[in-house]
Amino acid sequence: MGRLDEKSFEAIVSAGCPACQSAKVEIKSFIDRRVLLMLADPTDAGRWVHDGEKFVDGTYAIHCASCATLLFETPDCPRCHSPGGLAKALGETSRMPIPKRCAGCNELELIALALCPASARYGTGETPKPKALAEYGEPGHHMVAYACESCDAAVVTQKCPLCDAPGPLRVRP
Ligand SMILES: [Zn+2]
Ligand SMILES: [Zn+2]
Ligand SMILES: [Zn+2]
Repeated sequence: MGRLDEKSFEAIVSAGCPACQSAKVEIKSFIDRRVLLMLADPTDAGRWVHDGEKFVDGTYAIHCASCATLLFETPDCPRCHSPGGLAKALGETSRMPIPKRCAGCNELELIALALCPASARYGTGETPKPKALAEYGEPGHHMVAYACESCDAAVVTQKCPLCDAPGPLRVRP
């Protein structure tokens, strides 16, 4: 369970802003993004592969979308909850090295999974569309795992990918 469970998340979002009564909120969360790599360079912009529960679990800030009043924030790491870990997660670049080729079969193309900070607006009536706040290689964009489709080799980081705290990591919803 994240710092916010589904219930408290819903309570904050449905209450809206106490200052200006706006029903729209802006949520910031670390969510899963799949990236295709060729020789360790991304070949696409990546696509979101999270679900609603993971979005709630990774939430680290909620603001009013109209007047920016702060409705929720946590300084802890969104992935492992280590105290003060959020600053490392947002400020540092990915620590997991991605090889240019699969170590098993020499394949040049790898599929990688990242945790990426994103913002999304809730309360507009439409399905929220997360916007990436960091791209591949930028601070905040952290590699979690990569895999080769040719030989099924897969490598997963054992430390917290966001703040570098030692594992084992808590189970996500
Ligand atoms: Zn407001
Ligand atoms: Zn962490
Ligand atoms: Zn391979």
